[in-house]
Amino acid sequence: MSKRLTTTAGAPVADNQNSLTAGPRGPVLLQDYQLIEKLAHQNRERIPERVVHAKGWGAYGTLKITGDISKYTRAKVLQPGAETPMLARFSTVAGELGAADHERDVRGFALKFYTEEGNWDMVGNNTPVFFLRDPYKFPDFIHTQKRHPKTNLRSATAMWDYWSLSPEALHQVTILMSDRGLPKTPMHMNGYGSHTYSLWNDKGERFWVKFHFKTMQGHEFYTNREGEEIIGKTREGYQEALFNAIEEGNFPRWKFMVQIMPEMDAEKTPYNPFDLTKVWPHADYPLIEVGEMVLDRNPENYFAEIEQAAFSPSNIVPGIGFSPDKVLQARIFSYADAHRYRLGTHYEALPVNAPKCPVHHYHKDGQMNFFGHRHLSDDAYYEPNSFGGPAEDPSVAEPPLRISGDADRYNHREGNDDYSQPRALHDLMDDEQRARLYMNTAEAMQGVPEEIIERVLVHYDRISKAYGDGIRAARARLAAEG
Ligand code: NDP
Repeated sequence: MSKRLTTTAGAPVADNQNSLTAGPRGPVLLQDYQLIEKLAHQNRERIPERVVHAKGWGAYGTLKITGDISKYTRAKVLQPGAETPMLARFSTVAGELGAADHERDVRGFALKFYTEEGNWDMVGNNTPVFFLRDPYKFPDFIHTQKRHPKTNLRSATAMWDYWSLSPEALHQVTILMSDRGLPKTPMHMNGYGSHTYSLWNDKGERFWVKFHFKTMQGHEFYTNREGEEIIGKTREGYQEALFNAIEEGNFPRWKFMVQIMPEMDAEKTPYNPFDLTKVWPHADYPLIEVGEMVLDRNPENYFAEIEQAAFSPSNIVPGIGFSPDKVLQARIFSYADAHRYRLGTHYEALPVNAPKCPVHHYHKDGQMNFFGHRHLSDDAYYEPNSFGGPAEDPSVAEPPLRISGDADRYNHREGNDDYSQPRALHDLMDDEQRARLYMNTAEAMQGVPEEIIERVLVHYDRISKAYGDGIRAARARLAAEG
């Protein structure tokens, strides 16, 4: 026999088909609390969608550490042999919750590791760099990716106008317009922590670190035409691919690797190693293999576990630290702030976000507080106290982060080489990859006023004359084709 239907308060429901009305042709009575409860719940089914990274796909898995980087970090999650349960959420950046999956865009690559010393979140992308190096520009940049306030349409003019005035973006734009801007599935792309973080060991030594997750499925991509064809058939191509692969037992895997930079090297590198628009060349800081990540379990409920998954770069654990990356500092604030807004004060207590280790804090009350008093003694509701409440543990103190300088609004566009690294990327592509890069860029420029295109082509010429000319030739071909 099937289970008995109840109201949210647990009372059995006798009739789930017919409203309570005054006669068969009469109006509904206000006392039909079952109808009211049903309608009221439906009105509240949506929560604010993420302003960026709204459309996502996720799964659970495990991170296994097979290498040994224990000399750099005391983080338990990174010790040889450690196996840590985790959650991954992949996403597009610009599209809304209902956007098509196979659009050319950067992909979010967010990971939550449920470690025995708290949750460690690596909230990265499928690209090692980003469009900007100063977080002050983030809302402006995102506005160019979203809808025009009057037309309510995406605006190529806004994008290229902004990029033409922000040459630091062109490294990321090069990746976006390359084959890696439209991966076939979330399984066919790398993930990068993108920011520089730090590792610190038991001796109190700090090392700068970049995190890399390299796809073991191989890089596979679609062209713009193939993407359009797929979107014509399904807007949910990534959801289908990831969900079905895991259901069928084809578990996707990534090699977990790091680049390590000794703390004092940061003063010697020709580029600022904390600049989010730059990579660390592998020849200078080689990749070290640390472990493997596998995704092998689908969520039971998409909304509860993926829509409500709350990743934040502020979630770090002893042995892992931040760096002077300005954009990282802003994200440490803004991700937790976004979750408090979208999900509420106690978002970390939702099952998908809750740590799997003990949690002891003194935050009180607030909306939707359902977890009660966690401490050993009822009288320990402030700190310090004499009633055995949780207390700080100096043994997990992080070594000091060396940061100095006079407070000022330094011009982040002055004295930077915005061209060498995109040039290195352009140079490593073969002729066919470059032809697609030029054509994707030219297609993305369609409809943009000439003076804006001329301004951005000056920057492309500075990266490489071949790059600028390649885009010019692709534009001429598009114009000839009409
Ligand atoms: P390497 O030749 O050692 O590495 C090149 C890197 O480029 C590889 O990691 C490769 O990823 C990646 N790559 C290849 N094609 C693309 C693409 N279309 N979009 C994005 N990444 C791509 O060179 P360097 O370390 O000296 O870096 C040269 C340039 O490569 C950089 O300026 C940067 O643009 C790009 N790059 C560098 C990375 C780094 O951390 N050093 C990381 C990613 C890109 P894979 O191995 O997965 O094929």
